[in-house]
Amino acid sequence: MRPLNARIRLDNLRHNYQTLKAVHGGRLLAVVKANAYGHGAVRCAHALADLADGFAVATLDEAVELRESGIGQPIVLLEGVFEAEEYAVVDKYRLWPAVCSQWQLEALIAHDWQQPVDVWLKMDSGMHRAGFFPHHYAAAFTALKQCRNVGKIVKFSHFACADEPENGMTEMQLEAFDLACEDLPGEESLANSAAILNVPEARRDWGRAGIALYGISPFGGVDERLKPVMRLTTRIFGERVLQPHSPVGYGATFYTSKSTRIGLIACGYADGYPRRASTNSPVAVEGIRSRVIGRVSMDMMMVELDAAQDGLGCEVELWGDTVNANEVADAAGTIAYELLCNVKRAKFTYSE
Ligand SMILES: *Cc1c(COP(=O)(O)O)cnc(C)c1O
Repeated sequence: MRPLNARIRLDNLRHNYQTLKAVHGGRLLAVVKANAYGHGAVRCAHALADLADGFAVATLDEAVELRESGIGQPIVLLEGVFEAEEYAVVDKYRLWPAVCSQWQLEALIAHDWQQPVDVWLKMDSGMHRAGFFPHHYAAAFTALKQCRNVGKIVKFSHFACADEPENGMTEMQLEAFDLACEDLPGEESLANSAAILNVPEARRDWGRAGIALYGISPFGGVDERLKPVMRLTTRIFGERVLQPHSPVGYGATFYTSKSTRIGLIACGYADGYPRRASTNSPVAVEGIRSRVIGRVSMDMMMVELDAAQDGLGCEVELWGDTVNANEVADAAGTIAYELLCNVKRAKFTYSE
């Protein structure tokens, strides 16, 4: 069997949830959209079932999958519905839809609800992606309040720059949100992972933890409070020594400067490893840090081995404990979110 393995440490997931909830206070949604950032939504949700106050997903299918697997907690649809007909499914499965735009609001009010629906009403406090402008927010709130089918309304918004501590955007968004909510009662939710960890004023009734739940710092680098959940490993299945001045891989983008031992490993961009990373992207061979050399190919890539290192059959960590996913993301000019979501063709195993 091809030796690409994604080990998912559910005990670390639980640790991270508890840590983030303690930092935030109040209640905390575990954000498990995009198959729990590539970790497996059903397995992760069940591992958190006795801890989590609720879950959040991006699509109706993701929510239904969780409900049908036996998840009974609140499930928030972060973007709401994509067509009015979906409200029938929201109703049937007792989901909490976000309402981010006027058509979603009107369709919700027009829907023939079988039971009251709790709604997350989104404000665009400055990110300018989704939500009601602050000056339209009270009207949307009032329209929902007057609808007899609407139960609780949670006021919420999302930050554009919470992962940049020096960026003044977050303070501006907080101010816009609080001003527009001044006379509106009810619960609030503002903080994603970065704000949970770094913006005390953003900690309200509900936090929404994604990336940090999976043990990855939203600020880059390593946060010692968090434990990485995924460990992606493979093995060396080919080994050779190259002469000095030998090109390596597609495009001959890398030349050895000295006699170099290289290992061939089973992982490539079709598995989700970022091709942009290539030469110098960090790996760990049996726990010892080394690097990728040459371009990442579709199914394979090459790593440098020093003279003392074992070769054939050795385990290579792509990310996990020795190599943080943020380092690989840096090498690839992207963010760890993207790397985690993209993992495919690996064998997933789960430990409690
Ligand atoms: C994805 C998402 C989150 C989680 O963000 P992280 O940075 O991963 O913690 C929170 N809120 C909303 C609205 C989201 O879409």
